Amino acid sequence: MQPKANLEPNLSSIKHSAVNENNHQKISKFELNSIDGMDSDQVIFSSFSELELDLIYAIHRNEFELYYQPKVDTKESMIIGAEALIRWNHPKLGLLSPNDFIPLAEKIGFINNIGKWVKKTACAQNKAWQDANLPAIPVSINLSASRFMETDLVSSTRETLEQTKLEAQYLEIEITETSIMKNEEIVFYQLDELKKLGIKIALDDFGTGYSSLSHLHHFNGKIDILKIDRSFIKDLSITKQEDANFIVHMILQLSNHLKMDVIAEGVETMEQLKVLQNYNCNTVQGFLYSKPLPAKQFAEILNKQRIEPIR
Ligand code: C2E
Ligand code: MG
Ligand code: MG
Repeated sequence: MQPKANLEPNLSSIKHSAVNENNHQKISKFELNSIDGMDSDQVIFSSFSELELDLIYAIHRNEFELYYQPKVDTKESMIIGAEALIRWNHPKLGLLSPNDFIPLAEKIGFINNIGKWVKKTACAQNKAWQDANLPAIPVSINLSASRFMETDLVSSTRETLEQTKLEAQYLEIEITETSIMKNEEIVFYQLDELKKLGIKIALDDFGTGYSSLSHLHHFNGKIDILKIDRSFIKDLSITKQEDANFIVHMILQLSNHLKMDVIAEGVETMEQLKVLQNYNCNTVQGFLYSKPLPAKQFAEILNKQRIEPIR
C-alpha cells in the first residue's frame, strides 16, 4: 500500500512569486480556474515556463512519489530508520530526481506545497507499515529553508501527526546548516517547537556549511542527529591518514561530547564502512546497503529487518 497525501494546490504563494518573476508562458484564467482553490476573479498577468506549470499540477496529477533509503545499525545489521526522498514521475521526461526540480519549486514558491505533501505522505506511509506489523522505525523528511519562514509549520506538523495517527517519535526532520544560517533565530524557535511535539531533528550534509565545526556547540540541545556529508565519507581511507579521516574522526568525537547521534551519509564501500566502525560510527546510510527504494520494495526489506552490505 502506498498512501499519498491528497493536498489541493494552494496557489497564493505562487501567484505572489509569479507577479514578481519574468516567466515565459502565459497562464490563462481558464487554466487557473481548473485548479481547486484558485480565486477565479483574480487575473494573473505573469506566466510560467512549461516545466514550472507541470510542477504546479504535479501534486494534483499524483506524479510525485517518495522513495525510502534505510539507515542501518552496522553492529547488528538492522534497519533502524529511513529517509524519505522525493521523485517526480514526469509524464514526458521520466523519473526526475529532487535536484532537477526542488530548486525550481523554491523559485516559483511551490516548495511549501511539496513539503506538506511529503510530510503527509511519509507519515501516512510509516503508519501504514506499522499497521501492517512491520518494524516501527522513524522516517525522516527533508525540510527546505523557506518552510521555516511559514507560520503554520508547527501547527500543520501537529495536524499531520494527528490525522495520520503517527506518533511523533516516528517522524524526524532533516535540515541543512545553510537553512539555519539564513535565519537562525526563527529556525531555532521553530525547531524548539517541533522538538516539543516529540520530533527529532537531524542536521543534514554536515560539514558543507561555512562555519560547521565552530558552530556545532550552537546546535547543542537543538539538534539530535548529525549526518556527515558524503563528500567526507568518499575520501576515507583505511591505509592512509587522509584529511577526511581526520575531519570525520573529529566530528565523531565532538558530537559524542555534545551527545548528538551521528549518521554517515553516502557510504558506498566496505573500506569506508570499516574506517567508520574503527571510529565507532555505527549508523550509516548509503548505496553499500541500499539505494532509495519505492515504498513497496522498501517494505520488503523492512519486513526482513536485517540488511547486509552489497559487496
Ligand atoms: P540529502 O537529503 O542529503 O539526501 C541524500 C542524497 O544522497 C539522496 O539523493 C540519496 O539518493 C543520495 N545517496 C544516498 N546514498 C548514497 C550513496 O551511497 N552514494 C551516492 N552517490 N548518493 C547517495 P537524492 O534522492 O537525489 O536527493 C538529493 C537531495 O534533494 C537531498 O539530499 C535533499 O537535500 C533533497 N531532497 C530530497 N527529497 C526532498 C524533499 O522531499 N524535500 C526537500 N526540500 N528536499 C528534498
Ligand atoms: Mg536528507
Ligand atoms: Mg544529506
